[in-house]
Amino acid sequence: MTALPENWEGSKKILVIMAHPDDPEFFCGATLARWSSAGHSIAYYLLTRGDKGSQDHAVSPQDLAAKRVVEQEAAAAELGIHSVQFLSYPDGYLVADLALRRDIVRIIRKERPEIVVSSDPMNIYSDNGVNHPDHRTAGQAVLDAIFPASGNYFFFPELLVEGLTPHSVKELWFSIPSAATVNVTVDVTEHWEQKIKALRQHKSQIGDPDKLEERMRQRKTAGSTAEAPHYEERFHRIVFG
Ligand SMILES: [Zn+2]
Repeated sequence: MTALPENWEGSKKILVIMAHPDDPEFFCGATLARWSSAGHSIAYYLLTRGDKGSQDHAVSPQDLAAKRVVEQEAAAAELGIHSVQFLSYPDGYLVADLALRRDIVRIIRKERPEIVVSSDPMNIYSDNGVNHPDHRTAGQAVLDAIFPASGNYFFFPELLVEGLTPHSVKELWFSIPSAATVNVTVDVTEHWEQKIKALRQHKSQIGDPDKLEERMRQRKTAGSTAEAPHYEERFHRIVFG
C-alpha cells in the first residue's frame, strides 16, 4: 500500500457515480489510476449510456449507447477499475428528483463505499465553457443521496425491504469543481499517460485521437517544462464528521 496525501489508511472502497460514459476519465481519470494502483477498489456507476453524445443523425441512439458501453468498459480497464455498471436514465434529461436519489441511495447501500466521487453541482459555467446539465444534476443527486438519505433509516423504507440497510459515506470528492469550490489538488503526473490511454478508448467521442493526446499533454501546470511536465486534477472534497 502506497501512502497518499489523501491520508487514507488501508484499502478503501471507492464508488464513482457520474452521468455519462467518458466522464470519469475526462474529469479525474489520472486520480482514479493513482488510487487503483495504490490498492484501492474502484467501481463505476454511470447514470446514462450517453445515447445523445453525437451530432451524427445517421447513428441511432441505441447503437451509440451500445458503442459507448463497450468504449467505457475498455477505458475503465486501462485505469484498473473493478466494475462498471450502467443505469438506464436517458442522456441529457437527468433531473435530481426523488427517483434518482432513491436509485443512488440503493447503489450506496448495496456497495457500501467509504469514498464516493462525482461531479461538482456548483460548476454551472466558467471561462472554459458551460458545464453539461447532467454533470451538475448527477453531483446534486449524489450529494442529496449521501446526506442525509443513505445513512438514515427513515429514508426510502422500501429499500429496507430489499435488505439495504443505512450506510454512511465518509468522503465525497467532486471532480471538475468551479474555481470557487476547489479545495484539493492531486498531483497526477505519474498517471497522466494512463489517463490519455483510457481517453483514447472513447473513440466515438474524442475525434482525432492524436490531436486529443496533444491537447491533453498541453495541460501541464504553469511553471512545468516540456522535459519535466507536471499534471494535476482538482476536486472539492467533503469529509463527513
Ligand atoms: Zn459528460
